[in-house]
Amino acid sequence: MPLYAYRCSHCSDFELHSPMQQVRDEVPCPDCGGASKRLITAPYLSRASSSAYKLIEGTARTAAEPAVVTSPGAWPRRSSGTTSNPLHQKLPRPD
Ligand SMILES: [Zn+2]
Repeated sequence: MPLYAYRCSHCSDFELHSPMQQVRDEVPCPDCGGASKRLITAPYLSRASSSAYKLIEGTARTAAEPAVVTSPGAWPRRSSGTTSNPLHQKLPRPD
């Protein structure tokens, strides 16, 4: 739901979540009940890059709903000590 900003002539600005179909140009102020007009504000567009925005969103999501770990999980399995990547054959080896 979008967030709309309103300004009460007696108090201060406040914001309301409202479905787009039900947004009103004037609502009662939650503090004094006076008529408050809707403000025209810039849409909330992310100024961060998409990866930074994903990180911010992910951090906020994990803060609100932390992932619950039920088991310690498996340690990474060690292979037999060799690698299948042929490029690793060229790496220097200890004597
Ligand atoms: Zn007010």
